[in-house]
Amino acid sequence: MNELGDGTRVVHSVSGAPGDPFGAQPVFASAYHLGGQDYYGRAGNPTWRALETALGSLEGGECVVFPSGMAAISTLLRTVLSAGDTLVLPSDGYFLSRKFVSGMDVEVVEAPTAGPYPSFEGVRLVLLETPSNPGLDVCDIASLAEAAHAAGALLAVDNTTATPLGQRPLELGADLVVASDTKAVAGHSDVLFGHVTAASAELADRLREARTVNGAIPGPFETWLVLRGLGTLDLRLERQAKNAEALHRLLKGRVAGLRWPGAPDDPAYLLAARQMRRFNGVLTFELPDAAAVGDFLSRSELVSAATSFGGLHSTADRRAQWGDPVPEGLVRLSAGCEDTHDLVADVSHALGLN
Ligand SMILES: *Cc1c(COP(=O)(O)O)cnc(C)c1O
Repeated sequence: MNELGDGTRVVHSVSGAPGDPFGAQPVFASAYHLGGQDYYGRAGNPTWRALETALGSLEGGECVVFPSGMAAISTLLRTVLSAGDTLVLPSDGYFLSRKFVSGMDVEVVEAPTAGPYPSFEGVRLVLLETPSNPGLDVCDIASLAEAAHAAGALLAVDNTTATPLGQRPLELGADLVVASDTKAVAGHSDVLFGHVTAASAELADRLREARTVNGAIPGPFETWLVLRGLGTLDLRLERQAKNAEALHRLLKGRVAGLRWPGAPDDPAYLLAARQMRRFNGVLTFELPDAAAVGDFLSRSELVSAATSFGGLHSTADRRAQWGDPVPEGLVRLSAGCEDTHDLVADVSHALGLN
């Protein structure tokens, strides 16, 4: 059979077996009658496994879930890195990843997302983020994975912006995928969640063990909310990408610094089109200053100020307010699932374009 489409894959990844409910139900137990697969809720849980099976099948590896994206990233970093190791990080990657390692006895080498990257000789881990956030630059996962492996380093990709449907880093040679499912995967702005998917069962075992020992585990109810969200990821991404494309068309030539890797005239397009499977709803642009962003947000009726992305609702975030090293007026806009013509009309009005 040909490979199934994304809609079929996400729906059936969360649909349960014949005779079971459609979709795993949350199991809240702490202790189990001994003799079955589960014995204690910190070590394993059937609701986690349902989501881990779904995400693992979409990404082509073994998934371990965590209570937030940062819990996934920090556990990955603590598990893979030892004192004295060297880590390569993108300078425009998620700011808390940088902050977390600043508290570890690890040497950090930063590189712009699009490169050039330093030699990976002596490096233990390369943690890429592509498309990066908020710059939306893209790097070549396959060639960087090859360079990392040639130097004996592991390569991980923060796949939050792309989503499991938008990009499969393990197929491109990465050893690990890490993601915040708080964003598009859960998709409804009502839960924090994260996961790591490993190409090797050995790395997945070490991450699971670290989760059990560390004790910071996802709640079964939250896990179930992510399963609910995942089933409609294809539908939501499709509308969000359509909205982002329409907003890109509206804004082109009228705002500075416009970036959306799905646009053929974007500097990242050729690489993005080669290694990504589809695009998403996140775009970035610059208004003259913080006040102009404030005016835009107060005039818009459909775009809300919020510091997350990938959700059902259109949101915009002025990243400089959080300390990102970007211009004061840089906006990351996350196109939601509203009707395209409504969103375009609203943004056009709010920016005074008509
Ligand atoms: C949001 C985000 C995280 C952190 O995830 P949380 O679920 O908020 O802990 C990590 N990486 C990227 C790229 C993100 O956007």
